[in-house]
Amino acid sequence: MKPRIFKIDPYNIDHDLLKQAVAILHNRGLVAFPTETVYGLGANALDPRASAGIFEAKERPLDDPLIVHISEKDDLYRLTKEVPTKIQKLIDLFWPGPLTVVLEKTDLVPDIVTTGLMTVAVRMPRNSIARKFIELAGVPIAAPSANIFGRPSPTTAKHVLNDLKGKIDVILDGGRTEIGVESTVVKFQDGKVVVLRPGGVDIEDLQSVAGDVTLASETSDLANSPGKYPQHYSPSAKVVIVGNDSRQSEKVLLSAWEMKSYGLSVGILAKQEHADKYRKFKVKVLGPQNDARTCATRLFHMLREFDAKNVDVIISEAISEKGIGLAVMNRLRKAAGPADALR
Ligand code: AMP
Ligand code: MG
Repeated sequence: MKPRIFKIDPYNIDHDLLKQAVAILHNRGLVAFPTETVYGLGANALDPRASAGIFEAKERPLDDPLIVHISEKDDLYRLTKEVPTKIQKLIDLFWPGPLTVVLEKTDLVPDIVTTGLMTVAVRMPRNSIARKFIELAGVPIAAPSANIFGRPSPTTAKHVLNDLKGKIDVILDGGRTEIGVESTVVKFQDGKVVVLRPGGVDIEDLQSVAGDVTLASETSDLANSPGKYPQHYSPSAKVVIVGNDSRQSEKVLLSAWEMKSYGLSVGILAKQEHADKYRKFKVKVLGPQNDARTCATRLFHMLREFDAKNVDVIISEAISEKGIGLAVMNRLRKAAGPADALR
């Protein structure tokens, strides 16, 4: 059965529609909703059976924990045991927003939500529809991205429908998401803030508030956290990344002609400044090279568009890893998978 789709204007929210979605949520239903990062697939986080449905719909492994979404800061203190001062400072500055904090959980949080971990990931989103929906629900909402596990995250209601039709009850369609990549996930370890996943809040901004902030390495200390699946966010096409240097466009063209000679259909995901050079191929613009924010909003969307065009391989230009560029490159590398180093 197709999910019901409720179109919601983020500037003039129809509370009656949201209340219908809330009733379905309380009936153990699954409701996809927009956040400022990507669309989430929500279930009542306090109901283990409801939350179990998320894993089933997404085909998500049962050892990949969910993020719990709240509508006011006070809820954090019910879900977690202790909030270290540095984390509190980050929350004071970046909530509501694309920052997720991982802290020791209380008994209120069902084990299935954290996949048996003693810690829970919590976020207060700033998207107006998400906030109102959680507030009206009156319970925290467990919500990973609303895609089939491993696919690019959804930034429109249509992406959600493509992946999950027949498996979920409602989609709240609030238009395109603002940021386009997921939240920054942090934990507190040995007196320091550690970034488990780069995302919507820049590391540089975290550092200006919390001092020494380290990035968990993508290979080692990420057991039980977002980096443990080396391939993720992937379109059906193979993704190849070409390094961000002065010969980038030459190298892209060399690879593209080579792959074409093998009979492959090639798509190129390019910086705006280079797009013209790739006219002989299917080319999509990621964004201007000095505008990583725009690249972030477009990344997953463009990967899905290339899939719709049935290309065999996507050659993507790497961008600078400053600011949210770090999150863009983290997702691109995961989309490319472990075997693929930079060219
Ligand atoms: P998604 O919303 O699909 O991006 O998935 C949420 C991400 O948050 C997952 O990849 C998790 O690994 C991460 N996460 C959730 N809970 C925890 C936790 N307790 N410790 C570390 N990472 C977590
Ligand atoms: Mg996800």
